Amino acid sequence: MKKRKFLLLVLTLGLFLVGCASEDKLESRKEFLMDTIVELDLYGSGNKKAMDQVYDELFDIEKKLSKTISKSDIFILNRDKKARVQDETYYILEKSKDYSRRSKGIFEPTIGGLVSLWDIKADHSNRGLPDPKEIERLLANLDYEKIELGADNMVEIASEQSLDLGAVVKGYAADRARDILLENQVKSAIIDLGGNIYALGSKPSGEAWRIGIKDPAEKEDFLGILSVKDKSVVTSGDYERYFEYESKRYHHIIDPRTGYPADNDLRSVTIVSDSSMDGDAYSTIAFILGLEEGLEFVQSMEDIEAIFVTKDAKVYITQGLRDKFELKAQGYKLMDS
Ligand code: AMP
Ligand code: MG
Repeated sequence: MKKRKFLLLVLTLGLFLVGCASEDKLESRKEFLMDTIVELDLYGSGNKKAMDQVYDELFDIEKKLSKTISKSDIFILNRDKKARVQDETYYILEKSKDYSRRSKGIFEPTIGGLVSLWDIKADHSNRGLPDPKEIERLLANLDYEKIELGADNMVEIASEQSLDLGAVVKGYAADRARDILLENQVKSAIIDLGGNIYALGSKPSGEAWRIGIKDPAEKEDFLGILSVKDKSVVTSGDYERYFEYESKRYHHIIDPRTGYPADNDLRSVTIVSDSSMDGDAYSTIAFILGLEEGLEFVQSMEDIEAIFVTKDAKVYITQGLRDKFELKAQGYKLMDS
């Protein structure tokens, strides 16, 4: 009896040690930041330092770019309309203006006033919808060309404007996390910023990562599974943040042509790309543009793949994803585009 117990202990220890020595060792950490749950899973050994370095950077990015943290560059700019910002903030504003130009103003970083007016998180049962006159007034102030990026990191916006970089910050942060992991020789990791995912390298076994794409109708956990290596996978959808009022859904992505949440044939757009910041900007843009124009926009760019889900349960995938996407949820029809 005693002998058997000893054998069992040795076997258990043996398994444990094999587990430790293998490439599968997992360093995992979860935090609430950037208004979402951020989770990092790093495979391989000795990754504690890399993990700490990534989280230091993520908290730092939030401190510079959050609209609500006082002392952040964006908070100060929105309050004073003129400020000297840090290099990273300046770079993100430059990139944002570029996304705006490419999308002919659909991507609109001066959308801050309208985002606050819609206040998606508030209880709307008593207060109702925003006053259309107020929407009109704020619409007139939208203009990314009025973000002046001057010498020595001086930035100025028009007196009635307010910035919101929520459509690209998580993507930018995912790219920074990837860069830091690569500098630390981490070869296999999942960076998940509230569904804004970067799949670094491959699984420790060498196989592709299998990323679950959420079912926008929320009937099943997953719409399907995407197999990728070294790719960013970012989704924008009407199911992420929204309120319902008189049986209609009002979500967080504002169409700068109307001042109302984008209302077209789409439920969600997923972008697969190398740069997560690009993926984040393009998913927001394509979601506002709708199926036809959104697909055209995405297909006009090299090395960008996409999954569009329509309100009538059709799933359009671009050429490059044909052998990488498996539809899982019932009731959807897969379409080629
Ligand atoms: P995403 O979830 O990446 O599609 O980004 C949505 C977030 O971007 C919103 O919560 C707002 O903070 C911001 N936003 C909303 N509408 C726009 C727009 N038209 N252009 C740029 N940012 C927007
Ligand atoms: Mg986005």
